Amino acid sequence: MGEKVLAAVRTAASKTEIREFPMPDIPEDAALLKMEVAGICGSDVKLYASPPSKAAVIMGHENVGVIASAGREFMRRKGFKEGDLLYVEEYLMCGRCEWCHAGQYRHCENTDWRNNPDGIRYGYTSAERAPHLWGGFAQYVYLPWNAVVHRVPKGVSAELAGLVTPMANGVEWSLFDGGVGYDSTVLIQGPGQQGLAQTVICKQAGASLIIVTGTAKDSARLSVAKALGADYVIDVNKEDPLARIREITGGRGVDVVLDCTAGAGTIPILLGIEALKRKAGTMVVQGELKEFPNFPLERVTTKAITLKSARGHSYRACELALAQLASGRFALEKMTTHRFGLKDVDLAIRSVGGKGVPDVIHASLMPWM
Ligand SMILES: [Zn+2]
Ligand SMILES: [Zn+2]
Repeated sequence: MGEKVLAAVRTAASKTEIREFPMPDIPEDAALLKMEVAGICGSDVKLYASPPSKAAVIMGHENVGVIASAGREFMRRKGFKEGDLLYVEEYLMCGRCEWCHAGQYRHCENTDWRNNPDGIRYGYTSAERAPHLWGGFAQYVYLPWNAVVHRVPKGVSAELAGLVTPMANGVEWSLFDGGVGYDSTVLIQGPGQQGLAQTVICKQAGASLIIVTGTAKDSARLSVAKALGADYVIDVNKEDPLARIREITGGRGVDVVLDCTAGAGTIPILLGIEALKRKAGTMVVQGELKEFPNFPLERVTTKAITLKSARGHSYRACELALAQLASGRFALEKMTTHRFGLKDVDLAIRSVGGKGVPDVIHASLMPWM
């Protein structure tokens, strides 16, 4: 093992530099992860274009790698050894609060970088903070005692395991939050990796109708949506989506709406409210917007709509996502469309944001490529 670790560091808005960090000492209760694949998602696009702080950050919060070295105590507590392939959640838990005991690490104060200045989360934490390796766009990632790790099942490649995060979000948002199940009718807005993952999970759960919307630039993604189980796809630039949804559902509307759009403003929320069934539908929203002028609250309450917040995933959602990947039941390799090396982090993030290489669905950042 070398003395230095190479990492792609976000130094300012839309700026990346390759920097060297010292190889960390690994205490008895910690481990070092040799990175295989860091997935890149829509939140990376946003945090790269407008960073929440001036700190230099190694981004990369959807991390899959192999244990390169591990302390005795880490191996005893976690049940892993050197050479094991792992998926690491982005949350570094406290291990004591009610959220941690429930496997809902995303809500733990220890990992809440928005409200807790000392909160640590992979892909979000300053690289100034020792031992520096807090993001997946690097050759190695540091795993302290409170890293939340999952075993990648045999037969699942590291690249496929790079889909665990969107798939776990699919389980969390559509099943646990949206209540999608047998015979559900679902509108999924946005055919990116997140919308496609929701499509697969809804199909597996028994949804009887899955409609996926996209825009004119999404034609490749919409055909993947069909291949993965969508019953109908709608290009909202070509057709009036609400009229089409009413036609497809015989005027009834859908049970559940999942907003998986990026940068689409208020339109998906307004469409979702109208596309939901007459009473008691559920909509899972992203909350990209700070404000929503003229929000039709009365329409929401008279339709008795339940609004839920799309917020990451629980431990169980990750385990179910890994099982889904291991099942081989869906052609998920249709989603892992592109690979990028460490020096191409900037291009990779721009491509996921639709401004670099065309037709990227899921980008795998492979630091050793
Ligand atoms: Zn993500
Ligand atoms: Zn906690």
